[in-house]
Amino acid sequence: MPIIEINLKLFHNITQIEEFMKIVKLNGKKLPLTNNGELSLFFVGIGSAFTKTLYQTNLLVVKGKDHLLVDCGTKCSQALYELGLDITEIENFLITHSHADHVGSLEEVSLTGRYLVKKKPTMIITEAYQQILWDKSLRGGCGFSDPKTGKEASFGDYWNIIRPKWLPGYPRETWEANLGNINLKIFRTKHVPDNARNWDTSFWSSGIIIDNRILFSADTLFDPDLIDSYEKLFPIEVIFHDCQFFKGGVHASLEELKNLPCSIKAKMILTHYGDDWKKFEKKVKEYGFAGLGKQQVFYQF
Ligand SMILES: [Zn+2]
Ligand SMILES: [Zn+2]
Repeated sequence: MPIIEINLKLFHNITQIEEFMKIVKLNGKKLPLTNNGELSLFFVGIGSAFTKTLYQTNLLVVKGKDHLLVDCGTKCSQALYELGLDITEIENFLITHSHADHVGSLEEVSLTGRYLVKKKPTMIITEAYQQILWDKSLRGGCGFSDPKTGKEASFGDYWNIIRPKWLPGYPRETWEANLGNINLKIFRTKHVPDNARNWDTSFWSSGIIIDNRILFSADTLFDPDLIDSYEKLFPIEVIFHDCQFFKGGVHASLEELKNLPCSIKAKMILTHYGDDWKKFEKKVKEYGFAGLGKQQVFYQF
């Protein structure tokens, strides 16, 4: 295995979540897409949309022989290349919403899949979001006429589709999908615009729960109701939550997140943060969070 075990305490001064999780470093060889069966989360990047010193918050989930890339932003293809992996080797994708730091490399995946490696990747996607992703993002670069048929290409010409199943009776719209041994719950979030009042009146965005253990917010405004209601439904061990260090904007700010209960903050690792993170690292610990997430290490469960 191309990995070296390291002590979690070296990274985060915490005790609460280490019983669930250890951090394992990539040792410089090619990023593996399989493992011995443990649930493993690898953030290709952990930075904000406009980061220059990190990569964008895109998450590779690996479990046994199964893998899934959650979001595929503008810098994702390059980041994977630097980890020894061609983006065409990623077989399964899930996209949380349509900002470029989450969809920016998808045109490359679509076109190289169809015309270079001639292999369709798979996307876990609801019908409603497929329409948005195709019409508002991908169609511009991928919808041109097929040279053979003369017809406009469609999403299904580029992608195999796994359709998540809608789950009735949840606090907000929620779907379930299984990718091999990986179980996913997909729930709506409120992310844009910055004055969005609720998940159902904001532009389409979502977060995920993995194996009923890990909650990943993807991008959302501060939304304590989301955390509270899904915490009651699932035995969540660790929450990876986006964070910005200023108020306003379309993400939960550090000053808002600090109002969450201590028990939640103790298992919350912050993601999607800005390049000025060093100025806030001490505060993050003082407020009682598990810490700032690290890109390009394995969080193993
Ligand atoms: Zn983002
Ligand atoms: Zn976003």
